[in-house]
Amino acid sequence: MRIVDVRERTVEISRYSDPAVPSGGLTTSIVALTTDVVRHGRSVVGFGFSSFGRFGQGGLIRERFAPRLTAAGEIDPLKGWAAMMKGEKPGGHGERCVAVGTLDMALWDAAAKIADLPLQTLLRQRFGDRGNAVAVPVYASGGYPYPADDFARLKDELRRFHDTGYLRAKVKIGTLPLPRDIERVSVAAEVFAVPQSLAVDAMNSYAPEAAVTTAKALRLHQLMWLEDVCDPLDFEGQSTVTAAYEPPIAAGEPLFSAAEAKLLDRHGGLRRDRDILLFDPVHCYGLPGYLQIVETLEARGWKRSAFWPHGGHLFSLHVASALGLGGTEVNPSSFPPFGGLADNDTPSEGCASPPERPGIGFESQQALDRLFRSLL
Ligand code: MG
Repeated sequence: MRIVDVRERTVEISRYSDPAVPSGGLTTSIVALTTDVVRHGRSVVGFGFSSFGRFGQGGLIRERFAPRLTAAGEIDPLKGWAAMMKGEKPGGHGERCVAVGTLDMALWDAAAKIADLPLQTLLRQRFGDRGNAVAVPVYASGGYPYPADDFARLKDELRRFHDTGYLRAKVKIGTLPLPRDIERVSVAAEVFAVPQSLAVDAMNSYAPEAAVTTAKALRLHQLMWLEDVCDPLDFEGQSTVTAAYEPPIAAGEPLFSAAEAKLLDRHGGLRRDRDILLFDPVHCYGLPGYLQIVETLEARGWKRSAFWPHGGHLFSLHVASALGLGGTEVNPSSFPPFGGLADNDTPSEGCASPPERPGIGFESQQALDRLFRSLL
């Protein structure tokens, strides 16, 4: 069994479901790994993409990592990962970690299809079934500022989340003046009115002083959490914010290695009894890198329930389900056609399950399936 072909294309994506709203030039990489294994009369192909927010990784994938993977031909995800990482020095992660994570996603999709299992079942077999439920707690993520009619459109978007069955949601702050952001939070809280059902994500936009001012202004809003407040490597700034904000803080999304996770834990002032860890499995060199982070922080006293991986797509859902994590993000309408659950699937009692078909189940999202197949 071998990988016989690797293809990549960098495609535009948008934070908005409405194509009329400018997308800001964001991209992601889509990849297809064709194997020589035949299942149900067809060659098994594994699909992956670069998760969201860090742009496409076409150069690194095409010039560096895909050739190593094809030369090794390794179909086992852990052996394929080792082949991609051969000769790479520790540190200086840049975004090569995203390029590796993109191909890693496709390796797992192929491996689960070859095993004829949904990915979460394969992962339980490989990494120990902890007996946790298949369905995981989720929240609907979105709420990016609209260039026009922001409050009305924000409220509509959150109503749709609520009416679809989401019990928790997250909206963005940090790009508008603080009073306007506070107003956005109030608008969102009219729909997600239960305490601790609404989170806000500042997308690492604040300078240290503004981060503390914002945290203090949000203290009484009974938020589920306050996410990504300052520069991800400004651990001193993070710890100052944490000291000024008693409710839950969420951090870790833009950190990509176990060594960085350890620094956040050591210097960020985070509290094991309430704070949330957002590391994105795709951005952290894929599942092998993500497992290193989980194991490192578990050994330092963190519970798996603190991990709510960033992503908002089916791969993160499988990982959260299999590893028994606290929950995960879902992008019901942002980043089409990559985000959300299987077509026509909705959460039940605030939880969602990965598709039951073999692999990650991207084939259960018609528009995404079409896009992936266009690579072949
Ligand atoms: Mg974030």
